[in-house]
Amino acid sequence: MNKIEHLGIAVKDASKSKEVFQKLLGKPAYKEERVESEGVATIFYELGPNKLELLEATNPESPIAKYLEKNPEGIHHIAIAVDDIHKEMERLKNEGFVFIKDQPKQGADNKLIAFIHPKSANGMLVELCQDR
Ligand code: ZN
Repeated sequence: MNKIEHLGIAVKDASKSKEVFQKLLGKPAYKEERVESEGVATIFYELGPNKLELLEATNPESPIAKYLEKNPEGIHHIAIAVDDIHKEMERLKNEGFVFIKDQPKQGADNKLIAFIHPKSANGMLVELCQDR
């Protein structure tokens, strides 16, 4: 576990939120990317060694759409950078953590990612991510 790579923030209207975060951080996003397999459109801001990832649903079945049915906009997940995602998953499974999917997959921003289920992480959705 290296550092907080990014905070994922669920938003209802990405273009509106983009204006807010651009003003807040005093700089534009450095990347926008749709991940159709996850049903999300992402917008990334750099902030020192960390990032903010805005997440907007691209369809009603998207996990972000489901999340926003029950929760207000705001922090959705915390992403932690790891060197070897397979090794960390192995270690965490041995510690009793449950992953939403058993294998890492391609995420936004050129990363391999895996999510730990909030039920096993104190109510927090945790993403592991490894640079490809
Ligand atoms: Zn993320």
